[in-house]
Amino acid sequence: MANRAYNFNAGPAALPLDVLQNAQKQFVEYGDSGMSLMEMSHRGAIYEKVHYETESLLRELLGVPEGYKVLFVQGGASTQFAMVPMNLLRAGQTAAYVATGSWAKKAIEEAKLFGEVAIAASSEADAYKRVPSAEELKLPDHAAYVHLTSNETIEGTQWSEFPDTGSVPLVGDMSSDILCRPIDVSKFGLIYAGAQKNLGPSGVTIVLIREDLIVKPEGAVPTMLRYSTHAKADSLYNTPPTFAIYMAGEVLKWVKANGGATGMEARNREKAALLYDRIDSSEGFYRGFAEAGSRSLMNVTFRLASEELEKQFVKESEAQGFIGLKGHRSVGGLRASIYNAVPLESVQALASFMRDFQNRNG
Ligand code: PMP
Repeated sequence: MANRAYNFNAGPAALPLDVLQNAQKQFVEYGDSGMSLMEMSHRGAIYEKVHYETESLLRELLGVPEGYKVLFVQGGASTQFAMVPMNLLRAGQTAAYVATGSWAKKAIEEAKLFGEVAIAASSEADAYKRVPSAEELKLPDHAAYVHLTSNETIEGTQWSEFPDTGSVPLVGDMSSDILCRPIDVSKFGLIYAGAQKNLGPSGVTIVLIREDLIVKPEGAVPTMLRYSTHAKADSLYNTPPTFAIYMAGEVLKWVKANGGATGMEARNREKAALLYDRIDSSEGFYRGFAEAGSRSLMNVTFRLASEELEKQFVKESEAQGFIGLKGHRSVGGLRASIYNAVPLESVQALASFMRDFQNRNG
């Protein structure tokens, strides 16, 4: 199929073409079932196979150890901002958060609705251009958990190494970098991620939770917002987003065929290096937003000398088939989101567009 845009959307974002084409083949009739997967009962054998296969691929590709549940829930990562404190924060405890940028701030504001919140570390004073180091973390007494945002989608920063929080469970929002590289899941008590960047279409959110954290929440927590509800029912308590889970499974098969998390990291490092090298060799024409040690493999954020020039960059890039390069409205500038499924060729094309644009305007 021709005519694929150079898609740098921040999410929902590019999916592998092979996955889309394969899904297209199965769209109207799944196997020889006489119907689309979307028309089937979530209690039937065919859908159940898809459901458990997606779960087992996630376990395999993320290296989820024994003793963790893998859940499919709805409401996006934004609902996890509430579910985490609703389920894990108890009276007399404090929830600790690392303030790294726009998404961390949203998680913090939501947690304040449910109890005591402390900022364990913050890079606000540096305009969120960096991720704090492990040494900067100060945990409050009686910390229920420590929450961090592994990749700040808007600012374009990413943790390269996760802090060791000892007996205090570490909670990670990995919405924009899940499966972009291998990680040690055992460092976390809970990981959550909306699917619509690295895992598939929007509509499903994955949660990995250590079993000892699945306890009865304090107070009145709606049934659908308790981890225990979904854990007990293998994420089939109510009707799950069957099509989104199917698509996530197809994306995971593609990840597996392309070297798993290690393969993704190699691809992602190559893509990110192309753009960061272009920025660094531009003699200040392009200015990276994130500090070098905190640069994201997924969202490359940069600025030009003036907002006018940035507008021109967006306009000319769009005319040449590049989509999604305008930075988030809250920070401005430019952003190229280069999630797992963004092909190297798109990034090569962008790097050369950036060179041409500089030659014409530098
Ligand atoms: N956290 C991060 C890091 C994100 O990038 C996003 C979405 N861009 C969210 C949370 C919110 O996700 P959702 O739209 O699925 O609620």
